[in-house]
Amino acid sequence: MRKKQFKAESKKLLDMMINSIYTHKEIFLRELISNASDAIDKLYFRSLTDDSVKLARDDFKITIDIDKDNRTLTLTDNGIGMTAEELENNLGTIAKSGSLNFKKENADNENAQDISVIGQFGVGFYSSFMVADKVEVVSKAFGESTANKWTSTGADGYTIEECEKEDAGTVITLYIKEDNENESYSDFLEQYRIDELVKKYSDYIRYPIQMEMSHQVPDPDKEGEYITEIAVETLNSMVPLWRKSKSEIKPEDYNSFYKEKFMDYTDPQLVIHSKTEGQATFDALMFIPENPPYDFYSKEYEKGLQLYSNGVLIMDKCSDLLPDYFSFVKGLVDSADLSLNISREMLQHDHQLKIIAKAIDKKLKNELKKMLNNDREKYNKFFKTFGLQLKYGVYANYGMEKDGLKDFLMFETSNGDGYATLKEYVGRMAESQESIYYACGESAEKIALLPQLDAVKEKGYEVLYFTDEVDEFAIQMLMEYDGKHFANICKDDLDLSTDAEKEAINKKNEDAKDLLERMKEALGDKVSSVKFSNKLGSHPVSLSAEGYVSLEMEKVLNQMPNGGQGVKAQLVLEINSNHPVAEKLEKADDEQLKKYVTLLYSSARLIAGLDLDNPTEFSDILADMM
Ligand code: ADP
Repeated sequence: MRKKQFKAESKKLLDMMINSIYTHKEIFLRELISNASDAIDKLYFRSLTDDSVKLARDDFKITIDIDKDNRTLTLTDNGIGMTAEELENNLGTIAKSGSLNFKKENADNENAQDISVIGQFGVGFYSSFMVADKVEVVSKAFGESTANKWTSTGADGYTIEECEKEDAGTVITLYIKEDNENESYSDFLEQYRIDELVKKYSDYIRYPIQMEMSHQVPDPDKEGEYITEIAVETLNSMVPLWRKSKSEIKPEDYNSFYKEKFMDYTDPQLVIHSKTEGQATFDALMFIPENPPYDFYSKEYEKGLQLYSNGVLIMDKCSDLLPDYFSFVKGLVDSADLSLNISREMLQHDHQLKIIAKAIDKKLKNELKKMLNNDREKYNKFFKTFGLQLKYGVYANYGMEKDGLKDFLMFETSNGDGYATLKEYVGRMAESQESIYYACGESAEKIALLPQLDAVKEKGYEVLYFTDEVDEFAIQMLMEYDGKHFANICKDDLDLSTDAEKEAINKKNEDAKDLLERMKEALGDKVSSVKFSNKLGSHPVSLSAEGYVSLEMEKVLNQMPNGGQGVKAQLVLEINSNHPVAEKLEKADDEQLKKYVTLLYSSARLIAGLDLDNPTEFSDILADMM
């Protein structure tokens, strides 16, 4: 018989597994049991529509046998089984396994390469090589007449040969390694240990996991003496975690359930377990991950909750159950109101499902509200990770969801003491303040340096810092909060001055009409006007925008693939009338004026975070004047 080599990727992983120093070798059992359960699921599903499957629901089971003398641990399932080809494809390569994708995504993270992959998700079948030096898989696919045996001692490849097996299903035999000074592999040949592991990791598996257990019981014939009684016992409770009563469940149970089921290696930041009765009756178990799922920002990411009907999985990612702004939520819904054989198309129109989705949305919002009110630190952390989704939610679908989401938004502010909600901001607005002020920029640090900020702060007004591209769009969608309008402090029409001040600056602009005209001419169509301003504090110059489109919006729109189509903000060059530079301009001759205004315009662009049209010219003029 010819020995075949593992595919390169598999071999690497296999080596990692065999030589793993990882202490939780015990997860191999969980992996094998999950595989067996999946295989039974497949045959059970088939039995619903195919009369040639002679097994009833209660006939399906997973059996574990221990043979201490031969140091073997055997797992038997009566699931769908594998053909020779499937044995080859499924056990000779791991290319399609979720854990490998994870490994690729985290190629630069050493830890993720080893510990997390092996330890937290396991790598399925291969994990058996952590505890066994030889593995045999005898399998017969449902509907096939021949069975096959796959054998491997690890790194040196595997063999496949035909063999005898009566019924469909799979028998996996692990030849448990000898003990060494660090590891007592013999533990895995102890019934108490296997019992413990099944209860720890596989308790909710829906099919019975059975094992022969021996107990010492009093001898009925001889008083004071004991005999060994052997009986087949079902080790798992078979009740899914979400169906248990909350008082029975420990936080660790939720955490390990989440990590195993949703392939994460970090505990979730929030667990939501709810039982709902009424218009729709369902159990929901939802998690907000600590970090965005590894593929969250890729096109491949699919939002959704698992959908169960009475404990049986009917859909892995039911996207209709989650709005886009909660796309990071993981979890499941189990409802007896849904029929098992419902198709995807029918589900979309299912009235019951819509009611459930609505209830889920409400539940999630309530939990976030609780977090916001009761544990601000935790909410801040949540918002840092997923707040962007909520902002997009305000903006999306023409603001359809904005009212439900606006109170979850937070922004840094000119107070410099962390995030504020809109409610908090409005609650501490100055008496004379009419609008909610904001400024946009790359970061809070950069915004804090804007020349326009000083005048607003001087009035005692707080300014929201918009650092995400979507911020201003979301706020435009909101239009107002609590009756207060939003005002960009970098817009030309922002005016906080008193009537007297207004009059003074208007006069100044009127008197300098000719000068301003000449400056505008020098800049051509780069700006729509040049004017003197009294709102720049001690800074000489700034750019503001007139009309609807702000500078920040122009930047964002023009970055979008064919979204912006040359949308331009109307720029106004504002020059501080109280700054010595104003006097300089008044005294300049035509040639000087051209240079000065180019310098001022260029500096204003830099301050606004825009590129220079002609950096060389800027530098030449600057050097010239020095
Ligand atoms: P994963 O479960 O992540 O796909 P595994 O390495 O655990 O990766 O298993 C690879 C594949 O082998 C499974 O997807 C399944 O198709 C098949 N397989 C494993 N164990 C069994 C089993 N007991 N019965 C039927 N098929 C199995």
